[in-house]
Amino acid sequence: MKKIYILMILFVFLGVPFSETKAQSSNDSSIVYFTRDISPAGVMKLFEFLKDSVHGNVGIKVHFGEDGNEYFVPATMVEPLCNYLKATLIETNVAYRGRRRYTDTHIQLARDHGFTFAPIDILDSGGTLVMPIENGVRFKNALIGKNIEKYETIIYFTHFKGHGSAGFGGCIKNVSMGMATPEGKKLMHSNNFPVTDTAKCTRCGDCIKDCPANAITLNPLTIDKEKCIGCGKCITTCTNDAINAPDNGEKTKRFLEGLVEYAKPVTEFRNSIYFNIIINVSPSCDCSGNPKKPFVQDIGILMSTDIVAIEAAAHDMVDAAHQCDDAFMKENSVSGKHQIEYAYQLKMGNKKYKIVEVK
Ligand code: SF4
Ligand code: SF4
Repeated sequence: MKKIYILMILFVFLGVPFSETKAQSSNDSSIVYFTRDISPAGVMKLFEFLKDSVHGNVGIKVHFGEDGNEYFVPATMVEPLCNYLKATLIETNVAYRGRRRYTDTHIQLARDHGFTFAPIDILDSGGTLVMPIENGVRFKNALIGKNIEKYETIIYFTHFKGHGSAGFGGCIKNVSMGMATPEGKKLMHSNNFPVTDTAKCTRCGDCIKDCPANAITLNPLTIDKEKCIGCGKCITTCTNDAINAPDNGEKTKRFLEGLVEYAKPVTEFRNSIYFNIIINVSPSCDCSGNPKKPFVQDIGILMSTDIVAIEAAAHDMVDAAHQCDDAFMKENSVSGKHQIEYAYQLKMGNKKYKIVEVK
């Protein structure tokens, strides 16, 4: 509660425009720009503070949404920014069934979801770029969509929401899982199989509908490890606690550390700007075709050049709105906070942040 109280004071104290503040860090904290104006105009107002840091060919990393999921950040939100920068919308294919698996159907899905105003580049359509991970413990290399090399500035336009295996999905996940090839995604998810509790299963069948890998069977409830890709969708889908994260200890920690390690060389490869759009905060990720309903009101938009600071700020805001210390632990029984701590340990950014509210 103490942290929530401090956060509220910070908002009140900083609830005025800080147009004179252009520095991206001050003393021992990093600047995180914030607006409650959840609109394309709100995005542009924030971007005004960092536009001078953009150079070269610009790629904007988005998520085009999944069939059956309406919670992804709508195309209209990024359209003016994309047009202003003459940017390319960038994404990677996924490892499971559905239209996002192949480049042509993935692009068609994007167009169907309104991303019609810019070129689209599916980064792994050009092959794989192997990026060494300095001091990596979980991975030695990250397998990243090779077309990343075409962009000098990358803007990660991220939906901040829950995730069955990662606790939450924000900018770190948008960089790691979001920029990885399907093979890289599989490697990150490997050995992260959920555990089942047959006694709690009511055989409603919801998890079967949501599993992208056809890995679940009933009577008794079983997950086929040969097929499971460890995406965690079934964990958030099952409301009866019959499918759960492998444990809340070592395996989850390993998965989160793998995510962070994958993100590290990508963040260092190019000039990067991060957005967290805190709307439709569902416990489920945008890849779920059957997501759970949002559990807090829409909050606003954050922007920073510090990936750790923006994740910490977004998490704290959701915690404050949900009146608890870990909203995603409460909703998903999985804490993702180790993403932030481990990214800080890997010197990817600063946990301390200063909110600059832009009106
Ligand atoms: S969603 Fe849960 S209760 Fe329903 S079939 Fe799957 S495991 Fe059983
Ligand atoms: S984690 Fe669950 S939803 Fe995902 S592939 Fe495995 S069984 Fe299916």
